[in-house]
Amino acid sequence: MSWGSVRGHDRVVEDLRRAASSGRFPHALLFVGPEGIGKRTFARRLAQALFCERRAEGLLDPCGECAACRQVVSGDHPDLHEVGRPEEKHELPIAVIRDLCHDLSLKPMRGARKVAIVDDADHFNEEAANAFLKTLEEPPDGAVLILIGTSSELQLDTILSRCRVVRFDPLPEEELAAILRDRDPEADPGEADRLAQLGEGSVSRALSLADPELTSFRRRLVDELADARPFDAPDLARRLEEFIKDAGKESLAQRTRAAAIFGELARFFRGVLWQGAGLDPPAPDPSDRRAAAALADRLEPEDVYLLVERCLEADYHLRRRVYMPLLVDAFARDLGRLLSGLR
Ligand SMILES: [Zn+2]
Repeated sequence: MSWGSVRGHDRVVEDLRRAASSGRFPHALLFVGPEGIGKRTFARRLAQALFCERRAEGLLDPCGECAACRQVVSGDHPDLHEVGRPEEKHELPIAVIRDLCHDLSLKPMRGARKVAIVDDADHFNEEAANAFLKTLEEPPDGAVLILIGTSSELQLDTILSRCRVVRFDPLPEEELAAILRDRDPEADPGEADRLAQLGEGSVSRALSLADPELTSFRRRLVDELADARPFDAPDLARRLEEFIKDAGKESLAQRTRAAAIFGELARFFRGVLWQGAGLDPPAPDPSDRRAAAALADRLEPEDVYLLVERCLEADYHLRRRVYMPLLVDAFARDLGRLLSGLR
């Protein structure tokens, strides 16, 4: 299969090939699945398949060598339009969607069709969605619209009802390890295996855990959660914020580090639940055992469950671009409350 850099999603490739060879390829697709599993890479590969000048489009098997295929890779195919939410915005701006609809209404420059990739589809607001509806419902001849989100629950009904939903699973551990090794062939293969085990099927998640500062911060934090009483929430908020800021000036670097912390804490608390039930946590960090046992001993499982939920909620707020100091402060306070057995 020449889906090249696309790994771990053979089922989706087969489904789309079936649709293409039957001549009923959907004109609007909504990709959903966790972040960091390759949906954007997949979308570009699909665009390449739809534009390829050598292979029949029903095959969805881009040659990778013709001019159209190469232009997709270099990012300058004139009929491929990629848009997303600008870094500093909470939502997809209506202006971005209007421009896209305008671009799509023009005649294709190279071939028979246009393809649009709309990233961050979780962040459509009503206004932008309404501006998009007509194009989504009746795209220009041959056009294919690919929307990329994380969960169909986060989509507006108006969008959802007009798209074929395509679900992507987290990457299998061995595929994830192979991707990590491809990215950094010089690195210790054992480290790729370790990150793949912790990465929960996501390349971005695994890469964010490669940060040694994160590993030591996490270690101290986990021990402190188990031991510190009374728990000093304002102090935690201050240190957490500082640590997140230390990731770099870019807000993306800060959010990546924050997401890694929330994700790691959620994993730790899930481990507490497993350990409390007398089971071995999946992907355990052996040095967590003592802290997990102390918490399993001290807290009701319901409270531990709420702690897991609270970490996931913090991650959700992070993706909605809630103001970081507020987010961290509320998170630390709730953690302190739950760790003291107060709901
Ligand atoms: Zn080609």
